[in-house]
Amino acid sequence: MDYNKFFSSALNTLKSEGRYRVFNDIKRTLGNFPNAIHYSDSKEKEVSVWCSNDYLGMGQNKKVLKAMHEAIDSAGAGSGGTRNISGTSHYHVMLEKELADLHDKESALLFTSGYISNEASLSTIASILPDCVVLSDELNHASMIQGMKNSRAERFIFKHNNPKHLEQILQNIHPDRPKLVAFESVYSMDGDIAPIKELCEVSKNSNALTYLDEVHAVGMYGPRGGGIAEREGLMDELDIIEGTLAKAYGTMGGYVASSRDIIDVIRSFASSFIFTTSLPPAIAAGALASVKHLKESDKERIIHQARAKSLKEKLRQTGIVVMPSESHIVPILVGDPVLCKKASDLLLSDHSIYVQPINYPTVPKGKERLRITPNPLHDEKMIDNLVESLKIVWKQLNISSVN
Ligand SMILES: *Cc1c(COP(=O)(O)O)cnc(C)c1O
Repeated sequence: MDYNKFFSSALNTLKSEGRYRVFNDIKRTLGNFPNAIHYSDSKEKEVSVWCSNDYLGMGQNKKVLKAMHEAIDSAGAGSGGTRNISGTSHYHVMLEKELADLHDKESALLFTSGYISNEASLSTIASILPDCVVLSDELNHASMIQGMKNSRAERFIFKHNNPKHLEQILQNIHPDRPKLVAFESVYSMDGDIAPIKELCEVSKNSNALTYLDEVHAVGMYGPRGGGIAEREGLMDELDIIEGTLAKAYGTMGGYVASSRDIIDVIRSFASSFIFTTSLPPAIAAGALASVKHLKESDKERIIHQARAKSLKEKLRQTGIVVMPSESHIVPILVGDPVLCKKASDLLLSDHSIYVQPINYPTVPKGKERLRITPNPLHDEKMIDNLVESLKIVWKQLNISSVN
């Protein structure tokens, strides 16, 4: 075997399909968010970032930064161990209490990322329940799919946001078998929102456990930032709620909130929770400050929604195809991987606007898009500038629009 030849040809396949991933090298500038310095070869320039998941700008919130500085000064850099062996700091414990309260659950468990929290929780629950069946929305995130696969439980995929299809599948499963239904609230690539009430009703009729990924909703929806389930008064219908501290909360880490015993089972059996060093105390402290702030403050959420609405309206007036999103996410359809990358490159080189192209396998082939995420710190002038720049690039590349 010529290993070098094999690896380079695997990469060449990606390149020829236009979906080779190129990372943009940026440094976010504190006090000047959402702007950043972009580095290329020997040049540096200021760009405006329109694809960050730091949805509310909490990554530079003063309270968050202060909490992180104080934690470093009082507790040092790393946690020093796994949760079991000296790595449970008081910051971790306080954050878990805060997260349990956020979702009105008995307990919560913190992980090093949202990805791990999904992988660990779904694989543990579905493998420990004897002969468990998992039912998964067809557009679930890679981390949920991986967790379900790792459980080796039998798995059925239901059509996206389709309670009727879920019901049909559930009716054909023996009533005595344990069942776990997993879905998201806000789907991050389309920005659509799950019919949580209906999905829970159908699940509960078959005595299934319900698992909700609220990664793209926590901090941003609900009176205290508890997510879509909080907004709709449905948190009690969910057995397990999962979230991240890395998106709207602006820091890092993931978690699940649930009953005391379910959390204790995940804590006790999940390999990727047990055998890894816990988050640095300063990160837990920053996340705690962020969650607390967004429990009390509605300002960020209100401006965020207004910006997203304004951007969608302004884009629609131009004829650029805005995919039907019900949330803060503004996906615009390109429909071709090479054009999508070109559009992104032109925005960056000619207009100092950074929007990462989203190609297969993150989205289906033919649905390549620019996924724009406005935040409260993008003002109307910046929105106008984005819209004008998109118009120019769309025209230049002849990307199809509505009129
Ligand atoms: C980003 C994401 C995750 C993973 O969260 P991280 O904290 O970034 O690891 C999980 N689920 C969904 C739907 C996501 O988009």
